[in-house]
Amino acid sequence: MQSTKFIFITGGVCSGLGKGIASASIGAILRSCGHKVFTLKLDPYLNIDPGTMSPFQHGEVYVTDDGAETDLDLGHYERFIDTNLSKLSNLTTGRIYEKVLRGERSGDYLGKTIQIIPHITNEIKNHIKKAAEESKADILLIEIGGTVGDIEGEPYLEAARQFHREVGQDNALFVHLTLLPFLKASGELKTKPTQASVRELYRRGIQPDIILARSDKAIDRESIEKIALFADVEEKAVIPAPTVKTIYEVPINFEKKHHISEIIFEKLNLAKKKAKLEDWEKLVNNIKANHKKKLSIALVGKYNQNLDAYLSVVEALKSACYFNNVTLDLLWVNAAKLEKKDQAEWDKLKKAKGILVPGGFGNRGIEGKIMAARYAREHKKPYLGLCLGMQVATIEFTRHVLKTSEVNSTEFDQKTKNPVIHILPGHTEEEEKGGTLRLGSYPCVLDKNSLSFKAYGSNKIDERHRHRYEFNMDYREVLENAGLRLAGLSPDKRLLEIIELKDHPFFVASQFHPEFKSRPLRPHPLFREFIKASVK
Ligand code: GLN
Repeated sequence: MQSTKFIFITGGVCSGLGKGIASASIGAILRSCGHKVFTLKLDPYLNIDPGTMSPFQHGEVYVTDDGAETDLDLGHYERFIDTNLSKLSNLTTGRIYEKVLRGERSGDYLGKTIQIIPHITNEIKNHIKKAAEESKADILLIEIGGTVGDIEGEPYLEAARQFHREVGQDNALFVHLTLLPFLKASGELKTKPTQASVRELYRRGIQPDIILARSDKAIDRESIEKIALFADVEEKAVIPAPTVKTIYEVPINFEKKHHISEIIFEKLNLAKKKAKLEDWEKLVNNIKANHKKKLSIALVGKYNQNLDAYLSVVEALKSACYFNNVTLDLLWVNAAKLEKKDQAEWDKLKKAKGILVPGGFGNRGIEGKIMAARYAREHKKPYLGLCLGMQVATIEFTRHVLKTSEVNSTEFDQKTKNPVIHILPGHTEEEEKGGTLRLGSYPCVLDKNSLSFKAYGSNKIDERHRHRYEFNMDYREVLENAGLRLAGLSPDKRLLEIIELKDHPFFVASQFHPEFKSRPLRPHPLFREFIKASVK
């Protein structure tokens, strides 16, 4: 193994403290110091990957360039660290067991008894080593999902303990994120839950090096001293992580106020390097300066009010708004309610300065999304369609501009007379149900007369996909003649990637998911131009 250093991040007290953001922030700081950072999220649940998990429960499925369907925390990592991650960056218990059990069936273990220790723990350690080797990272961040004490998390903590012992304390450290609850009645922050959760780590042979203390209030000196004493860490290594206005303040807080990189470099025996966070500071200042200039954008979906289900879309919208010096006022519009002609829902859609229809699977709310696309087209409101949002716009255009009846995607009506969206010939419906989605990064060539070309400033792009159905090229000519621009195609011209309306200020819809490649400091060109058009 080369000289990769390892940082394990665990969580204590309760879930939902923002371990992903805290880890991503540490990554952003170290990257800004000039280190090559890679990340690994270890998820203790038994699913093989998050691909089939409900966005209601688990939030969005984040897709990497190499087509892995992963946990949404990987999105935070990519956005904060601005590094493309891969299949290696997400590991679940389900996947480890799958591998070990397959090995057992094919005789790899020579008839031995297969056990959690050492077989499962070895597999976890092997994956960590592999991630370090293949990524060639200077620093590998390893976030252990869940909370210390969870039954599912035990093999990961044991593997981390062993790993730390094997690579030595100059090469690995533990960061533990906890919560200091505030008790109104006594008016104080409580450190006992933190002490208890550190003790849980000790029981597993793990000594934390850095404690990140989450709280809604400023943390007093006395609490810091207490935590340092009981957790047996240096006082400077107890880092307050108060709730902040925007998540982009987290790296600034860790580094500018608490010099976390110095502590990390010292413990990992690395030369000190200065973190360059000026761009983040500029972003935060811009957010604060423009917080009153609201821009209302309608997000027409089915997982309403559920930020996590559309996390990357919302983040991409926010970044594009900051870039255009406005703040996002997100209007959640429920597609199923639009369909039922719900007045309040329609009012929201009409009030919005721009309309976005995101990706999705299944029948629910489809007609409502088609109505939203129609409204945007007819009222010349900026429209951005993402994946399913492109498919509904195509159905809408064919139905109402071409005045054709019985138009649909075969996903919603298998026997439709005019399947403008369908499964690519050569793939049978049965094969496709096995889970073969078009996943990951694919190249696309842009039409030089398109808005998309102008936005990207280049005619060759690569974007990430996650879908099963495609535009039906049999309809290409009639639709083009009616005013639809096929703005982006695969290099072999067999697959449609972007549609635009010629006679509209901004109507752009992609078969891919641009949201996955948007970055806070570098908003995605399509989002950037969509917001620019909506501000007008
Ligand atoms: N359900 C559509 C398909 O499978 C769109 C998927 C999506 O929006 N991600 O093609």
